[in-house]
Amino acid sequence: MNAIIRHVGGHRWNGVPVLNYKEEGSHFKAISRQVLFKGGPKLGAELRYFEIEPGGHSTLERHDHIHSVMIIRGCGHCLVGDTIYEITGNDLIHVPSMTWHQFRATTDDPLGFLCLVNVDRDRPERPDEANVAKLKALPKVGEFIRL
Ligand code: MN
Repeated sequence: MNAIIRHVGGHRWNGVPVLNYKEEGSHFKAISRQVLFKGGPKLGAELRYFEIEPGGHSTLERHDHIHSVMIIRGCGHCLVGDTIYEITGNDLIHVPSMTWHQFRATTDDPLGFLCLVNVDRDRPERPDEANVAKLKALPKVGEFIRL
């Protein structure tokens, strides 16, 4: 294993595949993922870099595992719990357990962020009709969320 994985420019790293998701009409839109570090037995965490193109969004979901996120490119907005936040470079976002969350690139720039997550993690849950109704009833959240 290399001690250093070189940044090759443009938020791309040597030997790290870029996994693209561009499906229209799916629960995420215009988002790519790169796994930068995969924790082994001594570090039960994974560091990923996600990038959302302008107008794109991550999946609206919740799960038992938590996320620690740092914005490193562009700016945008996110939902955490019942609140929409404006987010920009070097902001840190904590997504607690079982908390609805979604990231959106709401400007003309891509939104890029590092996301620290458990290696062993539960499968994300997407909102059912009742949960969508609850979220839609919250101020600002209703117009923000993308399903
Ligand atoms: Mn998540």
